[in-house]
Amino acid sequence: MRTTQLYAPTLRETPAEAEVISHQLMLRAGMIRKAAGGVYTYLPLAWRVLRKIEEIVREETDAAGGQELSMPIMQPSELWKESGRWEVYGEEMFRLHDRHGREFCLGPTHEEMITSLVRDEVRSYKQLPLMLYQIQNKYRDEIRPRFGLMRGREFIMKDLYSFDKDEEGMNISYKKMYDAYTNIFTRCGLQFRPVEADNGAIGGGHSHEFTVLADAGESEIAYCSSCDYAASNEKAELRVIKAPAEEMLPLEKTATPDCRTIEKVAEYLKISVEKTIKAVAFQNEKGEVVLAFVRGDHDVNEVKLQNAAGSIELRMADEQAILAVGGIPGFMSPIGLKKGTTVVVDATVMEMYNAVAGANEQDVHYRNVNPKRDFQDAIVTDIRLIQEGDPCPHCGQRVKMTRGIEAGQVFTLGTKYSEALHATFLDENGREKPLVMGCYGIGVSRTMAASIEQNNDEHGIIWPRAIAPYEVIVVPVNAKVAEQLSLAEEIYTSLKQAGIDVMLDDRKERAGVKFKDADLIGYPLRITVGPKSVEDNQIEVRVRRTGETLNYTKDVYLEKVIALLTKL
Ligand code: ATP
Ligand code: MG
Repeated sequence: MRTTQLYAPTLRETPAEAEVISHQLMLRAGMIRKAAGGVYTYLPLAWRVLRKIEEIVREETDAAGGQELSMPIMQPSELWKESGRWEVYGEEMFRLHDRHGREFCLGPTHEEMITSLVRDEVRSYKQLPLMLYQIQNKYRDEIRPRFGLMRGREFIMKDLYSFDKDEEGMNISYKKMYDAYTNIFTRCGLQFRPVEADNGAIGGGHSHEFTVLADAGESEIAYCSSCDYAASNEKAELRVIKAPAEEMLPLEKTATPDCRTIEKVAEYLKISVEKTIKAVAFQNEKGEVVLAFVRGDHDVNEVKLQNAAGSIELRMADEQAILAVGGIPGFMSPIGLKKGTTVVVDATVMEMYNAVAGANEQDVHYRNVNPKRDFQDAIVTDIRLIQEGDPCPHCGQRVKMTRGIEAGQVFTLGTKYSEALHATFLDENGREKPLVMGCYGIGVSRTMAASIEQNNDEHGIIWPRAIAPYEVIVVPVNAKVAEQLSLAEEIYTSLKQAGIDVMLDDRKERAGVKFKDADLIGYPLRITVGPKSVEDNQIEVRVRRTGETLNYTKDVYLEKVIALLTKL
C-alpha cells in the first residue's frame, strides 16, 4: 500500500470529545469516525487491525476445537421470551418490529439463538462436546457509551458457546477456552491478567475476566505480585483480620462533640482509626434501611453488602430513614437500634476488642465496644472492599491495586439456558438430560482500543507487530528525488515479496510531516531512504517503540528487518 492511495485522514489537533488516549489517537490517526454516540465507522487502518485480531482469535479458537458459524444479528423475540430475558434485558436491548408487527431485537448476545439451534439438531451424547462461535457486530444500548470503541453501542464481539454432556466436560471446555484466551491476548501483545470474577452463584458457576492493565480501564482489580491471584475489587474475597485479644472492658459513653467522621473521632479520642468502627447507612429498593459496619480504615463493598442483605438495589440512606430506625447520622452503632433493622457487620469487626463506635446519640460515642459481646442479631460476613496492602486471599502476601479493561470473559453457564429452552440430549443410558453450557466472549473492537491504551507515547500509537495495520513503512526523505524514490520502491517491493505488510510513503511532503504521520499511526518499523542510502548504501531502520535507529547495508537489511520484526 502507498500513502498516496491510503484513506487515513489524520488530524493535527486532538478532538475535544475524546477523553481517553485510544479514542483520541484513533481519531487523529484517521482510523475511526463517529456516526452516532457509540457507533463508529472503521476506516481502512482500523479495519486491518481488527482483521488481524480476528485472525488470531480464529486460529487459537479453531486450534482449541471451536467451529465458526454465523448467526443472525436480528433475533425473534420468541426465543428471548422462552428464556425469560425479553423483559429483564430492559433498555440495553435494541428492539424493532417488522411490517407484521412481529418483535425482534438486535443481538446483544446469542445464548438463546445458539441454544435453539443446538436443541433442534443435537440428540445424543455422541454429538458432544461442541464449541461453536462467531465474530460479528453486537448491539447494546449502553446507558453511557463512551471512550470511543471501549464502550460502544455497536461493537465487534467473538462469542463462543460450549455444549457438554456433564459438568466435568463443561470444565474441560472452560479450561480449553481459558488457555485459548491466554494465547490470544499474549499473541496480541497485551499485558493482561485473568481476573477471578466468581460470583459464587449457586450451581458452582465460575468465571474469569481477561483484563488488560490500563489506567483508562473501568474495572479496578486487586492482584498479588507473589502468586497469580487477581480479582476485581467487587469480587475479591477477604480473610478475617483478628485483632490481638484483650480483656473486654465495660461499655462506656464518651463525648465526641461534632465528630461526625471516623477520622475526627480517632483524632479527638487520640486513638488509631483501626480501633474504630465505621457505619455506612443504605436503603434498599423497598426503602428499608440497611446498616453496614466495617473497621474505621476499611470501606464497604456494596456488591457484597447487597448480596449479604438480600437486596436488589442500594442507595445512600436519607437522614429521616436513619432517624426512624433509632440511628443518628455520624454517631451510629448496632447497639440500641430499633428491633428488626437490617444490620450487616464485617467479619473483621467481630474480631475487634474495646473499640469505639457510635452511641446512637448526638455527639456521643461508646468506648470498649466488644462486638462479640455487644452486637446482637447482626448478619456477619465479609462486606469489605479490598484495598492496596491487604493480604492476598491465596498466599497472604500484600495485594496491589490497578485499573484494567475487561477485554474478554469466560463463563460457565451450566444448564440455565438449556433447561429454559428445553435443549436436551440422550446420555449413554438413554436418559434425557439438559446440555451443560459455557459462554466465552471477546470484545474485538475493545481489544484494539485496549492495545492502544497500553501502547502509545506523546507521538502516537505503538502497535505490537502482530496486530499492526502495516508492519513497516518505507519513507523516502525526499520523494521528488528520483534515486531516493526508486530505491524506496525497490525496498518496498522486496519487503512485500518477503511477506511483510509494508507501506510506502510516496507523498511529495516534507520528511518531518511524513515522520510525524508514521509515528502517529504507529508502524513498528520505519525504513528511511535518504541521500546516504543512495550514496553510501546505508539503509536506516528505526524502531518505533524505542526510537532506536540502526543502519544496515543493502545486502543485509532484509534479513535484519525480518529478525527485528519477530521481536516486536
Ligand atoms: P461490561 O461489564 O464492560 O459491560 P459485559 O460483562 O457486559 O462487559 P460481556 O457480555 O461478557 O461483557 O461481553 C463480552 C465482551 O464484549 C466483553 O468482555 C467486552 O470485551 C466486550 N464488550 C461488552 N460490552 C461492550 C461495549 N459496550 N463496547 C465494546 N465492547 C464491549
Ligand atoms: Mg455490559
